[in-house]
Amino acid sequence: MTPVTGPEADGSVLAVDVGGTTMKGSIVDGTGRLRHTVVVPSRVADGADPVEAVRVLCRRLRDDALTLGATPAGIGVVTPGIIDEAAGVVRYASNIRFRDVPLRALIGDDLGLPVAVGHDARAAGIAEAVAGAGRGLDNFLLLPLGTGIAATVVVHGLPVPGTTWSAGEVGHMPVHPGGEPCSCGQRGCLEVYASAGGLARRYVRLGGAPGLDSRAIAEAYETDPLARSVWDDATEALGLALATLTLTLDPARIVLGGGLAQAGEQLFGPVRKALAAALAWRDAPELLPSAFGATAAQVGAAVLARRAAGLPVPDGWGALAPVAS
Ligand SMILES: [Zn+2]
Repeated sequence: MTPVTGPEADGSVLAVDVGGTTMKGSIVDGTGRLRHTVVVPSRVADGADPVEAVRVLCRRLRDDALTLGATPAGIGVVTPGIIDEAAGVVRYASNIRFRDVPLRALIGDDLGLPVAVGHDARAAGIAEAVAGAGRGLDNFLLLPLGTGIAATVVVHGLPVPGTTWSAGEVGHMPVHPGGEPCSCGQRGCLEVYASAGGLARRYVRLGGAPGLDSRAIAEAYETDPLARSVWDDATEALGLALATLTLTLDPARIVLGGGLAQAGEQLFGPVRKALAAALAWRDAPELLPSAFGATAAQVGAAVLARRAAGLPVPDGWGALAPVAS
């Protein structure tokens, strides 16, 4: 199949976000709306070939697009882990069991379309830069506070990958030297205290009832002293970490996303206060919630697909994509 980038293409692209639990694929129309979304398991748990599962989803999306009368011009696939975006290779991603997977070549052979392979968090940063909470800014930071914490550092409108494609791993920034152990082998890391997953684990470790997620802990703030203490530690740790990042990068804005950001002012209020307190001699940058939430990486994948296909990405493109919680 030859690439469809000529006059018959309708400006639609395919966008796939591969996660540790599920993979989401969408047909994204020329205006950036997600028109048709398929969610399938990542096939990591049942021992099936996880790379084949991604290829099957991509072929299915292409077939669905043709059935629905769309003519996709390209495809963007984003994954967690260490991604060599220039080579289109996933070097290593532990939670989806990928190692040195030449994803761009494999999907390109399957679909005959231009393919972009990207990092999920950096793709989320691209979406926020083009049409979200970082729109119009030369530089900003995006921190999704989910299972773990990784930052996307956007400079001159582009996410910084780093020398070994590992920029932004701020979840393992020490906020309490010699503090509680982290899965990475260090102690006192930010994500032990302030990721949605870390907060829930810490609540149990300190004697709380198991089964509460970060949202339930936030809701128990007024009635449960342990929930209150764990939440206060999280906002304090975030304020400290964001102060370090502010002093290093002087960002125009810091955008928080992920499960913890859904707590709204209960999170943003105390984090703003802790950040300002840690920056005595200078103003703190603005702190805002993500505009796209859980859809950000997929919108970013669509932007990457358009660029790979040679299609323009105007300012604000993708702003109409629905926001998933
Ligand atoms: Zn760590």
